[in-house]
Amino acid sequence: MTKIAIAGAGAMGSRIGSYIKQAGYDVTLIDTWPDHVQAINNKGLEVQTETNTYIVDIPAVLPKDVTGAFDLIIILTKSMQSEEMIHQLKDKGAIHQDTAILTMMNGLGHDERFAKIVPREQVFLAVTMWTAGMRGPGQILLEGQGSIELQRADGQADQRTETINQIFNDAGLNSKISDNVFQSIWSKATLNSVLNPLCSILNKTIYEFGSYEHARAMVTPVIDEIVAVAKARNVELDGAALLEKIEAAYPKETQGLHYPSMHQDLYNGRYTEVDYLNGQISKYGREANIPTPNNDMLTHLIHQLEMRYVK
Ligand code: NAD
Repeated sequence: MTKIAIAGAGAMGSRIGSYIKQAGYDVTLIDTWPDHVQAINNKGLEVQTETNTYIVDIPAVLPKDVTGAFDLIIILTKSMQSEEMIHQLKDKGAIHQDTAILTMMNGLGHDERFAKIVPREQVFLAVTMWTAGMRGPGQILLEGQGSIELQRADGQADQRTETINQIFNDAGLNSKISDNVFQSIWSKATLNSVLNPLCSILNKTIYEFGSYEHARAMVTPVIDEIVAVAKARNVELDGAALLEKIEAAYPKETQGLHYPSMHQDLYNGRYTEVDYLNGQISKYGREANIPTPNNDMLTHLIHQLEMRYVK
């Protein structure tokens, strides 16, 4: 039986973990938040949906208390916590030579960072359209439907990819194996690199941002830089299609009434994932000699705001 760990069991980790557990798999949540771990162990994970609230009985542990090894570890910390999490799991013997380490975190470059800690053939990448929110320790809020695309990070075929895909589909997570996961990751990262920092800096909902008659003039140069940097890394993005997707998020009927997650992190006093979005694009741009002044500036502005809001 595949032993599965969700390492980083906040909102998303708890959603994915609870779905897989409910499909009958052996799942453990691993998280650094003691109150959350304790609440899950005492009362179960409380899942609130649009229509009802239910409890999922699922074990949770702090990283220091992990015992035994896992066949599949799904990393769903925030990006800046992920390397520390993998180091801790490695030190605890939780990773064996065939363990698949898969992440569906937002952002770019996770495969390169993970491959410095574990062999690259153990690294799997996924991109997801599922969402989730935290209500409090041991309590999550789940809305809407989603999907997952996954692939081994080096693009090689692997029986483990098939197994993970099967597990996700058994859990109703609407998964498919991708033949170009990087394109999907970069596309999602483009949307996040545009709307997350702009709505955060301006303290506006997506609708409020999109209502400005010159919003397109603000968005286009950021997209253009990302398309150029992606191309230098052999990822072909369609800038016009990405612009269309971003503008499709503006109406109140779609995502317009929401603040992006970076806004929620920042104004709740938490560090953002900007270094894994715009910051990573700037870094790749420097490596490829492609100027990225707009992404540089967005990164700096978010860091300035973190100085004010993160206590
Ligand atoms: P999260 O903030 O809910 O959880 C991340 C970590 O922070 C967990 O270890 C969690 O326990 C801890 N944490 C959360 N609230 C805390 C609190 N009040 N006190 C102490 N610790 C706390 O993050 P997430 O939304 O699950 O995101 C994980 C990854 O998934 C990120 O890379 C994110 O970009 C990506 N992602 C999220 C969503 C979403 O809808 N939430 C969707 C797609 C991708």
